[in-house]
Amino acid sequence: MHNIVLFGPPGAGKGTQSQKLIAKYHLVHLSTGDLLRAQIVEGTPLGLTAKKLMDEGLLVPDEVVIGMIGSALHNNRQAAGFIFDGFPRTTTQAESLDRLLAEHGTSVACMIALEVGEEELVTRLLGRGKTSGRPDDQDEIRIRRRVTVYNTETAQVAGYYAAQHKFHALNGIGEVDAIFQHISSIIDQHQAAGSEAPAAATREVKA
Ligand code: ADP
Repeated sequence: MHNIVLFGPPGAGKGTQSQKLIAKYHLVHLSTGDLLRAQIVEGTPLGLTAKKLMDEGLLVPDEVVIGMIGSALHNNRQAAGFIFDGFPRTTTQAESLDRLLAEHGTSVACMIALEVGEEELVTRLLGRGKTSGRPDDQDEIRIRRRVTVYNTETAQVAGYYAAQHKFHALNGIGEVDAIFQHISSIIDQHQAAGSEAPAAATREVKA
């Protein structure tokens, strides 16, 4: 399995790039935001609780998203790999992801971070809000709160992967296709270099 964490603040372009990566690498896309919005549409109790937090730009509790990812991994055991989009967003989530993937005999290959400054993010999300229908895209105060939550609670997750030598950052401003080429080149390097590493990881887990 080849598992990639796509990282960056809200509006950095993770969703756009994920779509292109799915087509190229045939990976399963796991977006916790999308999974939560599906729960809201279904009107589940989880969805109702999550909606209040999401609309305000706050994180939903770790155990909620970790549970959703655990189920998704279980339900997609035949996948060639996963693109994690919007997860992990806290160090607790990152630790849980490592544990869950180890249970499936696999691991995170790399984290790729898209870097975009706050004013560009606000412009992009206000633009998206005109068509997305998402309450959290509808006003500047909520958007800036999401960016603040990213800076205070989520950005530190980069350090978790840097310590494992799996972190790559790139400029998220520019042509979508040029950014995609850059992401692809990082993934291709990891795939080429990692052809022996997954076997080693599997042996560790089984031991
Ligand atoms: P964006 O990254 O553009 O803000 P997402 O769809 O990834 O959009 O997330 C929307 C909202 O869903 C977040 O602001 C948060 O409330 C909730 N959410 C998504 N993923 C997580 C997560 N891993 N942990 C906690 N909350 C999450």
